[in-house]
Amino acid sequence: MKRLVLLGAGHAHLLVLRAFAQSPPPDTELLLITPSRWQYYSGMLPGWMAGDYHMEQCRIEVAPQVAAAGGELILDSAVELDAGQSRITLASGRMVDYDWLSIDIGSSTNLGPLNGYAGQLLSVKPIDEFQGRWRRFVDNSSASGAGHLVVVGGGAAGVELAMAAANVVNHSQEGGGRVSLIAGDSGPVPGFNARLRRLATKKLERRGVTVIKQKAITRDGELTLADGTPLKSNAVIAATGAQAAPFLAQSGLSVDGEGFVRVNACHRSESHPQVFAVGDACSRIDGALNRSGVHAVRAGPVLADNLRAALAGLPPRPFRPRRYSLYLLACGDQTAIGSYGPLTFSGRWVWRLKDRIDRKFIEGFSAR
Ligand SMILES: Cc1cc2nc3c(=O)[nH]c(=O)nc-3n(C[C@H](O)[C@H](O)[C@H](O)COP(=O)(O)OP(=O)(O)OC[C@H]3O[C@@H](n4cnc5c(N)ncnc54)[C@H](O)[C@@H]3O)c2cc1C
Repeated sequence: MKRLVLLGAGHAHLLVLRAFAQSPPPDTELLLITPSRWQYYSGMLPGWMAGDYHMEQCRIEVAPQVAAAGGELILDSAVELDAGQSRITLASGRMVDYDWLSIDIGSSTNLGPLNGYAGQLLSVKPIDEFQGRWRRFVDNSSASGAGHLVVVGGGAAGVELAMAAANVVNHSQEGGGRVSLIAGDSGPVPGFNARLRRLATKKLERRGVTVIKQKAITRDGELTLADGTPLKSNAVIAATGAQAAPFLAQSGLSVDGEGFVRVNACHRSESHPQVFAVGDACSRIDGALNRSGVHAVRAGPVLADNLRAALAGLPPRPFRPRRYSLYLLACGDQTAIGSYGPLTFSGRWVWRLKDRIDRKFIEGFSAR
């Protein structure tokens, strides 16, 4: 009997569990370790903030997925990994040995310029903590007014969060609230084509979000623009990019300059072949993937096959991302902007498409 440990209940691992539920690998003891009962679906988080969904519609209960796959769930988080000894240490002090390990623990928010900020900071990851903080912010706002909410980070997540937050903040008591997006020197959604960027900028304006094309820095605990202008705010949402779990860099696994696990096209560790890694936590040596939920989802079925192959002593197969991926940005007013390769589109139908795709993903895990 070999022990396979799935570390984290990220997108790809949920799909591995689904595949194993249909056909469990023989002679395998399966463990899944994650700190939360729930796996939150980030794509629906802005919709939840905007009031389009209840939180129950945006998350998947992990225990039934693990049970259906015949595994054991450990509600705990890894704080140490010794890849040489094939051993994980959990926050509770418990140690878990493995024969095979798959890592899908996502990333946390890289606070970078916001380190040292003394005010109310709402980091978007981990999402279970963010949603609690956002609820408290909204409750306090309805009592005392939202004031000025600043979103730092001009990527897709920052843009969606700013527009979703505008629904709450701009309508808070006495109408006194406002939202600013500190988008960096290149402005909103720099990774996308010019048409999408124009549409997003126009939409932000129409949604009452002030876009500032500068970087934010923290000085003496206060938020400041790069040109020195102070930014008085009641709360700051940090959507400032991904940071690897610190224990990965000390694990003995080969990692990139930012501490993400280096993997080949089969998502196998460059240094330790009994370890696989997917999603935000990994860094493809061939540079074929950016960090997005789309890739984490698509890698799931390939990872399931590769773990099965590894357990059977067979070679793994590569995960080749499609040439184009569909990206859909929710605008907080039940419209969305989408892109697929060179194509850009927007409107209510795009939001309905996003809503259908997102709900279908969650519903795929609700029947267990
Ligand atoms: C607001 C927002 C909107 C987004 N929208 C989109 C979108 O529309 N489309 C898209 O493609 N991408 C989107 N993204 C990006 C997307 O969230 C990530 O790329 C995606 O979640 C990565 O998935 P993952 O499986 O790697 O990790 P995650 O989904 O983050 O899952 C990680 C899992 O590991 C667990 N875990 C964490 N640490 C530990 C530990 N130490 N030990 C054990 N378990 C641990 C967590 O509890 C969780 O279960 C969005 C991001 C944000 C912030």
